[in-house]
Amino acid sequence: MNRIEALVRPNIRALCPYSTARDEYQGSLGIFLDANESPYPTGWNRYPDPHQKALKEQLSAIKGLPAENIFLGNGSDEAIDLVFRVFCTPGVDNAVAISPSYGMYAVAADINDVQVRTVPLGPDFSLPVEALKAACDAYTKLLFLCSPNNPTGNAFDPAELEALIRDFPGIVVLDEAYADFSAKGSLRAKVLQYPNLIVLQTLSKAWGLAGLRLGLAFADARVIRLMSMVKYPYNINQSTQELASRALQEPVDGHIAEIIAQRGRVAAELPRYGFVRRVFPSDANFLLVQVDDADALYAHLLADGIIVRNRTRVPLCAGCLRITIGLPSENDQLLQSLDSYEKGDIHR
Ligand code: PMP
Repeated sequence: MNRIEALVRPNIRALCPYSTARDEYQGSLGIFLDANESPYPTGWNRYPDPHQKALKEQLSAIKGLPAENIFLGNGSDEAIDLVFRVFCTPGVDNAVAISPSYGMYAVAADINDVQVRTVPLGPDFSLPVEALKAACDAYTKLLFLCSPNNPTGNAFDPAELEALIRDFPGIVVLDEAYADFSAKGSLRAKVLQYPNLIVLQTLSKAWGLAGLRLGLAFADARVIRLMSMVKYPYNINQSTQELASRALQEPVDGHIAEIIAQRGRVAAELPRYGFVRRVFPSDANFLLVQVDDADALYAHLLADGIIVRNRTRVPLCAGCLRITIGLPSENDQLLQSLDSYEKGDIHR
């Protein structure tokens, strides 16, 4: 048994996956009497490609990795759930995760009855390398890292991440949902070097397709095969496959550049308010901002029709709001609302 197989849940290692009608015949011409579909063309009367071949080829060209190293999920949330189902025996195995970080790692763990051991980030939200290693035991299958991290916004040093991937005996899930906004780039190419690395990305952020639900996982081909075996056969619907394929032909570099410029602008404006204590450096499309009274400012912004995320009850984030960077005009309105809060004009 190789290193990856040894990490897989025994029942998944032995799984005989569902084989779809379309696994047996893959041509597009013919008389399809194999899948009990309706013959009447509604636009959606045929099942979609369960392997999303065309979309994966397109993403392969964009991301510079072979299609066999790409998994597509119903958002990255599906991939997060699947790694628990593939690798962790409920009630037995555990996962380690940085804290604070994206909330779905813990929710997916709870759903799968897997213990999560959270390790607080170090000073200035740095990667707590030694504490992460110390939190592991013989039953630790997964390590969740997120870079740039949500909600802190910072990206970790790629060399530090790589050293951790190299040393960690289990699977490292590196969530790069916000990597398109970071000058530190992506480690996805490293999946060809480290079979224990899964890199998550999504079309929900920089690509502007949150409503379509398309998440990407990059990993060793064996890991991709395991995730594909466990997923629902037709997890990416026909419309998502078609619309994502169309959207991927339109570059989003202009939007990314504008978000990054606006992030700089808002970050530069915020410290002039007396109630702003700290604007944390961000490599993402949001800013974590510590203020005197997060609940009061949150309520003020809400009353002005501006919805931000109140993170004041999240570990290490007391007093913090997480503010997504919007259109320039939306950021103008945010700053205007902050002006009125400072003056004590309204809603106080
Ligand atoms: N990872 C991180 C770090 C996120 O912040 C989010 C959403 N906020 C996701 C994953 C979920 O992405 P998706 O829309 O692809 O499910």
